Parts: sequence; C-alpha cells; structure tokens
Amino acid sequence: MSIDSPILRIEGRVAEIGQGLKIARMIPNRFQRTIGAWCFLDHAGPVDFVEGEGMNVGPHPHIGLQTFTWMIEGTVRHIDSLGNNQMIYPNQVNLMTAGKGISHAEISPTDKASRLHAAQLWIALPDSHRHMEPAFQNYPELPVVETDCFSGTILVGSSLGITSPVSVFTPLVAVDLVAKKNSTFELPLDLNFEHGITLLEGEATVDGESLEAGSLLYFAVGHSSVTMSCEVGARVLMIGGEPFEEDLLLWWNFVGRTQAEIEQARGDWDPRSSRFGVIDEAIAGKRLHAPSLEGIHLKVTRK
Ligand code: MN
Repeated sequence: MSIDSPILRIEGRVAEIGQGLKIARMIPNRFQRTIGAWCFLDHAGPVDFVEGEGMNVGPHPHIGLQTFTWMIEGTVRHIDSLGNNQMIYPNQVNLMTAGKGISHAEISPTDKASRLHAAQLWIALPDSHRHMEPAFQNYPELPVVETDCFSGTILVGSSLGITSPVSVFTPLVAVDLVAKKNSTFELPLDLNFEHGITLLEGEATVDGESLEAGSLLYFAVGHSSVTMSCEVGARVLMIGGEPFEEDLLLWWNFVGRTQAEIEQARGDWDPRSSRFGVIDEAIAGKRLHAPSLEGIHLKVTRK
C-alpha cells in the first residue's frame, strides 16, 4: 500500500510488426519511457491465423538491449546470427542479449491454422554491459508459485519468495498471474521499484482501478503491495525495476546513447558488413530494411 505515490493510467497504441501483425505497444509512451530497464512492452494477440498466415518478422539487427518473449499461446521459431534455430512454445521465455550486435528473425509455422498470444519486451542494457558479446537462451520452464487464488509464473527477478533463472543485468521483476477463481489478494511489490501492470486476458482490477488489455497502470516507486481483484481465468502481467537512470536513444531496433553510434549501427546493417553476422535467408526470409535517418535528430529518453 502507499498513500502518496502516484498511479498513472497509460493507454497503449496499436503498432504493426512483421507483415501486418497488430500489437498493443504500452512502453515507450510520452509519459513513461521506461519501467526499470524495461524499455518496450508489446502485447501481441490473442489472434487466430488461418493456414498460411502467422507472425513473420524477417532478419533484422539489434544493439544495446535484450529481447524478452513470453509465449502464452502458439509457437514461433527464432533464428539468429549465432546459429540458434529455436522454437518457442507456450509457458517458455526466449531471451536474446544483443550486446554489441546480433540479428534475428521470428517466424511462426504456417502449415496449419494457429493462434498467437505473447508479450514481447525489450530490456535496455546498462552501460557496463551494452557492448558485451551477444547471446541467446531459451528457458523451457519457469518457476511457478501456486496459491489458492492464482498461479504466478516468476518470469524475471524475485517475487513471492521465488527467483527466476532468466539472466538480466539490472534489478528487474516480471510475473505472469492467472486467477484460479474469482478472488481478491495482495501482490507484494518491491518498494524501491517502479511497476507496470497490464491485463493479458479476462477481467481484473488493481487497487480498485480497472485493468484493460492494451493499457497499463503505472506505479511509481514506493508501493509495497497492490490489491488485485480477479475474475477466474484473468491473466495479468506485472513488470518492474529500479528506475533506470542512464539516458537512452531508442531508434528502430537499436538502443544506444549517441546519434553517432545509432548511425554507425544503421550503416553496419549491410550484407557487406560482418557486424550483425549472417542469417540464412532461405529459412529466415528477407532482411528488413532500416528506415532513413536522413535529417532526423534523435532525442534522448529521459526519466
Ligand atoms: Mn527483434
């Protein structure tokens, strides 16, 4: 509970990824650019694809961040320039650490009709780790806390007495909660973290505020818990972290600190450069083209 720490309702916006897959993007937004080091939050689906259709994001580069995928329904194949070719299944996390540079593609199998429901997030790497060697890990199983009221999967960090194995470089948390019955319960929060809570499915309120899919309730530092009221089957995603104090430049798929390094990364996304490795376009599809940076002055993301 907290008396004077503000709660902010943030409406997400609809964006498209790949070939027309619509997602709700909740951060960054003009009120809150980051929550801890979480600097991107997309909620994809639930969406039903007919045979021959699915998520199809061709090869593209990243620097300075980790991409974090929490798969709720459906399957997506991850292919990257380190040679990984990994299918992600429901209740699994894919974590790709871009560091100084990696490229990847994300493609759903399209041989039959399918359903996709996922949360995809980015984590800004701190200055101490943003030039590290790239890495990729699939976490086939995450720890789950069972209570009478809910199942809580500890995706990142520690919550409810359990710690996730997912490897991050700043203090962060993420928990997926599914209500087993209509119930009201306290969810403990870290007083030193800011938090965001969104609805992935069903109906729920937090501290009396209704949750809606595609929007986010933001809790500034200073809340030690929230009161959740959930209908049976409601699914809620809570993320949080220690406020991230470093200035960031976010552009396209890059997280950096200066315009020069973003321009360098854009220039290096070229088949003649080795920086982002090689991806077999026969299995991963056609490379995505970087938008133009001509005449664009990038603005630093400040808290
Ligand atoms: Mn990506």
